[in-house]
Amino acid sequence: MSTARTTIDFDRNGKQVGFLDIPHSPHEDAWGATRIPLAVIRNGSGPTVILQAGNHGDEYEGPITLGELIRDLDPGTVSGRIIFLPAVNISAVLAGRRTSPVDGLNLNRTFPGDPHGSITQQISAYVSSVIMPLGDAYVDLHSGGSSLSILPSAIIEPAQNPDLRRRNVEAVLAFDAPLTVVIDNLGEPRTSTATAVRAGLVTVGTEMGGGGTVSLDALGVCRRGVRNLLAHWGVLAPTSGPITARAENILRIPGHDGYVLAATDGVFEPFHALGSEVRAGQPAGRIHNLADPRREPETLHYAADGIVYGRRQPGRVVVGNCCVAVAARYDGPLA
Ligand code: CA
Repeated sequence: MSTARTTIDFDRNGKQVGFLDIPHSPHEDAWGATRIPLAVIRNGSGPTVILQAGNHGDEYEGPITLGELIRDLDPGTVSGRIIFLPAVNISAVLAGRRTSPVDGLNLNRTFPGDPHGSITQQISAYVSSVIMPLGDAYVDLHSGGSSLSILPSAIIEPAQNPDLRRRNVEAVLAFDAPLTVVIDNLGEPRTSTATAVRAGLVTVGTEMGGGGTVSLDALGVCRRGVRNLLAHWGVLAPTSGPITARAENILRIPGHDGYVLAATDGVFEPFHALGSEVRAGQPAGRIHNLADPRREPETLHYAADGIVYGRRQPGRVVVGNCCVAVAARYDGPLA
């Protein structure tokens, strides 16, 4: 049983903007709370859509977009209910870090969470056991974060159930990002979107830009995409403008072969810009040892055909760092 508390009434009509308080008792504050922004807009009849951002604290397009919607949406224009968690891992968001400075955890590797665990585990427990059961659809807005620059894209979380898979694909295409990509995080079950799919929610993810910055392009994609989704589910009136994302253009990260990892410490020199078409076996870049100019750089190679989808942002790398991610054509099931 969670000790979290909110004054938000999820069943009340209109707009409520408040907080979720999770009791937290560090040295500086024996009886205080970690206060997470939470808003609900409800009107008329329609589905419940959960909009979440700030899962990683250094990814900004999602939190900006959700803050705007919370302020701007007139409840009279809504059919159904929207639950907003615009800065769900608030400690990480305030620190501008991927992981929580409180317990060091990556929220998106703690689902379904533990109501008696550390603060990050308590957040995921509340989302999966209190928020998700209220929802019909779930959107988790990510960007590349401090370590990666990623092409703005809408993300399909794989689903075993064919009907849910079809509804996920339809929704992600309705977001209408420049790219649509299937990402299974190597089968990782502890993410928010994997948990939402297991709960039977129609699920949409994103990767908007990255590098720990706010991308003007990605912010535009994110703003339009979230409204497209709400229109797709009938929660807002239809948006104007054609949807151009097509099922035949869906990409996927092809498992381990999609990730080019650093084989030595040093500084990574990439050979290709984001979006470049590349082939398996082709050199992807090389790692320079700046401390010893006698040493030849070590060349890294792609292991899959596809496009350069993401790239490491900082030059410095250590062994095992992801230097490049390749997205290949998706030829798996769509329903
Ligand atoms: Ca992320």
